[in-house]
Amino acid sequence: MNGPAVCTRRVMITLLLGLLTLAAGCSPNQARYDTRFLAFGTLMDLTIVGIPPDRAEQAAQAIEADFLQMHKSWHAWDPGPLGRVNRMLESGERFSAPPSILPLLRLGKALSIQSEGLFNPAIGRLIDTWGFHRNDPGGGRPPPPETIDRLLKQHPSMLDIEIDGLSLQGTNPAVKLDFGAFGKGYGIDLAVEHLKKMGIENTIVNAGGDLRAIGLRETGEPWKIAIRHPDGNGIVGSLEISGDESVFTSGNYERNFTWEGRRYHHIIDPRTGYPSVGSASVTVIHNDSTTADAAATALFVAGPREWHRIAGKMGIRYVLLIAENGDFHMNPAMQSRLKLADATSQKIILSQPLE
Ligand code: ADP
Ligand code: MG
Repeated sequence: MNGPAVCTRRVMITLLLGLLTLAAGCSPNQARYDTRFLAFGTLMDLTIVGIPPDRAEQAAQAIEADFLQMHKSWHAWDPGPLGRVNRMLESGERFSAPPSILPLLRLGKALSIQSEGLFNPAIGRLIDTWGFHRNDPGGGRPPPPETIDRLLKQHPSMLDIEIDGLSLQGTNPAVKLDFGAFGKGYGIDLAVEHLKKMGIENTIVNAGGDLRAIGLRETGEPWKIAIRHPDGNGIVGSLEISGDESVFTSGNYERNFTWEGRRYHHIIDPRTGYPSVGSASVTVIHNDSTTADAAATALFVAGPREWHRIAGKMGIRYVLLIAENGDFHMNPAMQSRLKLADATSQKIILSQPLE
């Protein structure tokens, strides 16, 4: 019978491997806490590593409460602070900005200018017309072209909002704020700041694939992020994230409807008033989630021909744009980080580096 001998040898090998892992600088397995809740109409996955479960649970409850509050404040069509701001902007009177709205407004204006207006949170009326906020977008058909024309001619822009300290004034009654393209990113940034204040150093806040990750996984390795394929078939590939980074994707598959054989999705080109043409999805890596979210939307609108210029203006260093024709456009820095699931089946169009 050699059972005990084998067993002893196994114990020794396991111990040796354990010591080697420590010697290699990896921390041993740490406590991992996972929870899931609904926020901004998306399932939010929160993972916290390295603190006892009771503290992790308390932290998660605090974050869930934060998101509930943000959702109430930034809802574009429910009564609430944003609804009031929209009414006051339309009136043209000067008024004081609610504290829950002002930072988003400042950031939204700056990001919109950088994106040459391709990310434009002032086009709420256009978005309402398309009806993407309803469960049945647009009643299942595009709005009449005259309605779109009329709204376009009014040129709603973030430049039509004058911000003077704490007070605001609208100079174009056609402006209606819709934070749909970056509110989730800003919310994730606030959540991560709150988690950091609670002493959490390893966490991932993930809103349906749009996320910010800090620190490391429970194994001591970087977080591994999968990127969904816009055609709905599996994943494009994966990225490793450590330190503090956000990964955001805008895709034409998120919300859409089909009318007379054509698909209409929820990302509107502010220049045409119609769903933008050319991109199937855009993935951006950036430090903060607010910029990553706004940039993913802006570069989606910019499309295969203009994404590089707009990314440069917005200070984005890593971009993957999957075109409607299936081509993969990316910059060299993104290429060196992206591990493609299948490196042979798509055409890769490599851009100049992004400075
Ligand atoms: P997701 O909803 O998948 O996170 P985005 O971040 O791209 O996708 O946001 C899309 C939402 O942003 C739309 O539902 C709409 O509310 C709003 N939106 C659409 N087009 C634009 C645009 N060009 N600029 C700013 N906001 C937009
Ligand atoms: Mg976005």
